Amino acid sequence: MTGDRVNGLVDGASGEWYVKFDMFHLAVDQGLPVTRVISRFTLQRLLAEACERIGGMDVLVNEATVVSFEDAPAGSGPGATVWAATADGRRFEGDLLIGADGIWSKVRTSLFGPAPATYSDYTCYTGIADFTPPDIDLVGYRVFLGHGKYFVSSDVGDGKMQWYGFHKEPAGGEDTPGGRKARLLDIFGEWTDQVTDLVRATPEADVLRRDIWDRPPIMAWAEGRVALLGDSAHAMQPNLGQGGCMAIEDGYQLANDLTDAVAAARAGKVEQSGLAGLGAALAGLFGGSGVADDAPPSSSSSSPHTTPPTTFAFDAEAVLKRYQASRIPRAAAIHGLARMAAVMASTYKAYLGEGLGPLEALTRLRIPHPGRLGGYVAINAAMPSMLAWVLGGNKGALRAEDRPLACRAFDKPAGFDEADFPALLADDAALLHRSRATWFLTPVNVAGANADSAALDAAGPGTPAVLAAAARIALPDGAVEVGPAAGGEAAVAAGFGGDIVLGSGGDVIITGPGVAPRHLAVRPAPNGGGGWVAADLGSGLPAWVDGRRVPAGGSLPLRPGDRIELGALAIDAKGAPVAPAWCVKAVHEGVVAVRAGGDGWGAPRRAEVEAAKRKRGTAPPSASREPVAA
Ligand SMILES: Cc1cc2nc3c(=O)[nH]c(=O)nc-3n(C[C@H](O)[C@H](O)[C@H](O)COP(=O)(O)OP(=O)(O)OC[C@H]3O[C@@H](n4cnc5c(N)ncnc54)[C@H](O)[C@@H]3O)c2cc1C
Repeated sequence: MTGDRVNGLVDGASGEWYVKFDMFHLAVDQGLPVTRVISRFTLQRLLAEACERIGGMDVLVNEATVVSFEDAPAGSGPGATVWAATADGRRFEGDLLIGADGIWSKVRTSLFGPAPATYSDYTCYTGIADFTPPDIDLVGYRVFLGHGKYFVSSDVGDGKMQWYGFHKEPAGGEDTPGGRKARLLDIFGEWTDQVTDLVRATPEADVLRRDIWDRPPIMAWAEGRVALLGDSAHAMQPNLGQGGCMAIEDGYQLANDLTDAVAAARAGKVEQSGLAGLGAALAGLFGGSGVADDAPPSSSSSSPHTTPPTTFAFDAEAVLKRYQASRIPRAAAIHGLARMAAVMASTYKAYLGEGLGPLEALTRLRIPHPGRLGGYVAINAAMPSMLAWVLGGNKGALRAEDRPLACRAFDKPAGFDEADFPALLADDAALLHRSRATWFLTPVNVAGANADSAALDAAGPGTPAVLAAAARIALPDGAVEVGPAAGGEAAVAAGFGGDIVLGSGGDVIITGPGVAPRHLAVRPAPNGGGGWVAADLGSGLPAWVDGRRVPAGGSLPLRPGDRIELGALAIDAKGAPVAPAWCVKAVHEGVVAVRAGGDGWGAPRRAEVEAAKRKRGTAPPSASREPVAA
C-alpha cells in the first residue's frame, strides 16, 4: 500500500521535496480504498482463478496465438458470432472477440489497419531492491525529477522497493553484458543517495531495460462484434502507473455492459441460439485467448457479471458501441496526462546551469531556477484535482454490490496518526525527523572506504535517532582515520548527546590540507526537533555541507545524503568533490537491528510493521498480508 502515506515529487539531485501529495484523503474522501500496489503475477493469478471459477476449468487456453478472425456481416443482429483462428490451426467461435493483446495488438491492426507506435524518447531501467528506506513508514513513493532523466521509487511491500530509471535516448540502445548498474550509476550517480542506494542494492541480473512506447488515442475501439481493451486500445506511458488500471476499468465496464445486455435479452425473452461464447468473452478481457467452441461456460457461479448458459441472445454490436463510448474519453485524457507527466518530470531544473552543457558547473552555486517556482505553483494548484480525478473519476461506474467495505476498515495510515498528515505534508523537516532512522557519518571519496555497507554496519544496534561516527573503518592510505582513536566505543558514545567533532584532532579524525584539529562539530539542532546541524568551530578554515559553505561561527542543517567536506573544496572535471568527504546516511532502525543480527532485511521488517499495526488496531490479529512486488 502506498496511498496511506505521504507521496510526491522531489529534486533528483538533492532529494529535497518539491511537491508532496495527500493521496490518502483523495481516496477516502471519495469513499474509495487507498492506492495499493500488487505484483503483476499475483494479479494475473487472481484474474485467472476468477475466470476459471466463473467459466470453468477449461475456459483459459494458453499458447494460442490469434492470427486472424472473421466476423459476421455488419448488421447481422443478435445471435451472430465471430470466429478467431490461432497459429496452430484451431478455430474458436464466440459472441464477441476482445483483443486484449497489448501494444503490438494484431486484432487492432486487423480492425483499423497498421499504424506506428510513438517512441517516448525514453528508455526505462527497472528493478526491485531488497532495501528499506529510513522513512518507509511515512513515504510511499517518490518521483525524482531531473533534466532528460527521472527516477521513480515505490514501496512494494515485503521489505522491497521497486524503482524505474528513465533516460532520454534513442530507441534500441543496448548495454554491455553485466553493465546495466554501471550505466545507471553513470546516469544517476551524482543524484541523491535515495536513488543510488536503490540501484546499488539491486542485483545486476535483476535490472531490466525496455524502451517506452505509446500509441496516440483513437476514437473507435470496436467494429462489429470485435473490440479492443487495455494496451491494444490505449497504450500509454507508465508515468502515472495507469496503463494496467485502465485495462481493469475497461474490463469492469465491459463486464457490466454485458451483464446488462444479457439481463435485458433474458427479460425480453428473445429466443436465439447464442451466448455460447460469453464465457470466452469474459476470459478474453484479461489477455486470455478464448475458449474452445466445444467447451461451454460453467453455470456454477453466482457472480453478478455472469449469466448461466441460456438460449437468449443479446446485441453484441450495441454492447461494444456502448463500452467504447463510456471508456474512450477517460482513457484518452489519462493517456494525455501520462505524456504530460513525462515532460514535467524530465524538464525540471532545480538550479541555473542545468542542461547548459559547459555551464553545468553553475549548478554548484545553487541559484534556484525560475521555472522551478512557476512549476511549483502550477503543480500545487492543479495536482490535487487532477489526482482526484485519476483516482476516482470512474467511481460512477462502480456497482454497489462490488464495493468492498472491508477495504475501508483497513485504510488508515500505518506509520503515523491520520491527524499528523497536514504537518507531515507541510514540513519537510518534520517528515524527515519522524523517520525511525539511525543516522551515520560515512566516509566517501576515500580509497578503501565503503560508504554503502561496511560503514553502516559499524555502529550496530541500540543507536536510535543519533548521528554516530562509523567507528570501525580502517583505511589503507592513512588519509582519514575514524574515531574512536581515543577511548574506543566511549568516544563514539560521547558524541550522542552533544558534539561529534570532525578535524585532525577530533572524534572523527580527518587529516588533509586546510583541516584544523577541531574543525567542525556535528550536533543536535538547537530547536530540539530531532535534527542535526554542522557547526563551524571557529578555526577560520572553510567547511562545506553539500557544496554550501558553513558560515564562520554558524551552522547548517544536515539531511541524509549531505556531503561534509573540510578544507579546500577540490572538484574534478565533472564538478564532483575529490577531497576526502563524509556523507550523512540515515538507515531504518529495523534494518540496523536486523543487520547487526545477521538476518535478511525483509522478514523482520514485515513482522515489525505488522506488530505496529496490531498495536494501533489497523490490522486483525492474524492478518496475513499478500506479499507484493510489482
Ligand atoms: C515500465 C512500466 C511500468 C508500468 N507500471 C504500471 C503501473 O504501475 N500500474 C499500471 O496500472 N500499469 C503499469 N504499466 C502499464 C501496464 O503494464 C500495461 O498497461 C498493462 O500490462 C496492459 O495490459 P494488457 O493486458 O492490455 O496488455 P499486456 O499486458 O501487454 O498483455 C497482452 C497479452 O496478450 C498476449 N498476446 C499478444 N498477442 C497475442 C495474440 N495474437 N494472440 C493471443 N494472445 C496475444 C500477450 O502474450 C500478453 O499476454 C507499466 C508499463 C511499463 C512499461
